[in-house]
Amino acid sequence: MRQVHSKQVIRAKGLSKIYREGAAEFRALQSVDLDVHAGELTLMMGPSGSGKTTLLSILGCILRASDGRLEILGEDVGSLPEGELPRIRREAIGFVFQAFNLFPTLTAAENVALALDVRGIRGPVAQKRGEELLAEVGLAQKARSFPADLSGGQKQRVAIARALAGDPPILLADEPTAALDSTSGRTVIELLQRLAHEHGRAVVMVTHDPRVLLFGDRIVHLEDGRIVKEKRNVQTRRDETSSFGEAPMAAGLSNQFSI
Ligand code: ADP
Ligand code: MG
Repeated sequence: MRQVHSKQVIRAKGLSKIYREGAAEFRALQSVDLDVHAGELTLMMGPSGSGKTTLLSILGCILRASDGRLEILGEDVGSLPEGELPRIRREAIGFVFQAFNLFPTLTAAENVALALDVRGIRGPVAQKRGEELLAEVGLAQKARSFPADLSGGQKQRVAIARALAGDPPILLADEPTAALDSTSGRTVIELLQRLAHEHGRAVVMVTHDPRVLLFGDRIVHLEDGRIVKEKRNVQTRRDETSSFGEAPMAAGLSNQFSI
């Protein structure tokens, strides 16, 4: 049953980012306004180089904006000293990357345990929590497997379990299905959708992948560092029998959306 969450967990106003290399300047983001809500899967789309990763990194407090205001859970990030940012990341944000970024010499359970260890959770409590997290992503039986023995989709689900170690209200994923086949991709997008809808997390996913479009509650389009279009999906996809592998047809798609 879908719970109603309307809380804004991220509020961004006028975010800009200028990359400087020597005397050269590159404006990667230009005055971006974006609010992100709990309980929603927000998809961020746009051509390569449009600033998606830059924006996600700023929202995740990995990167500082050059200008603008960013509030995470009501805290004004811009006014915080650099030393406070790791705390915000640890407490509020989970990250998932295209390349999984798992440690190859650690098992699935150990990869998750490491993220718990960083948060001071160790011993039997960590063991139990690690098992719960792997069960949450449907991988309880793979706890002792090494990344090399897991499929791409399974690796990404371990990475999602790891991202959930701090029970973050915000989950940010940068092209998490890009390296996956359609079946694995679908499992991952359904998991991210469930984490938003059933757990009330704010999930922001950057994607190039038209197959995932109908799973998002909201789709934000970036071009040249600007948000050029934003749509709300009135009916997100939950039909178990529908095929993830088929790209949605343009006509069908436009019927699904309302501005
Ligand atoms: P996307 O994720 O949409 O492909 P990015 O946010 O990675 O876009 O990059 C946006 C633009 O900023 C690109 O033109 C890229 O080359 C540039 N850029 C990204 N990171 C840096 C950096 N560290 N230094 C200089 N330019 C960068
Ligand atoms: Mg990118």
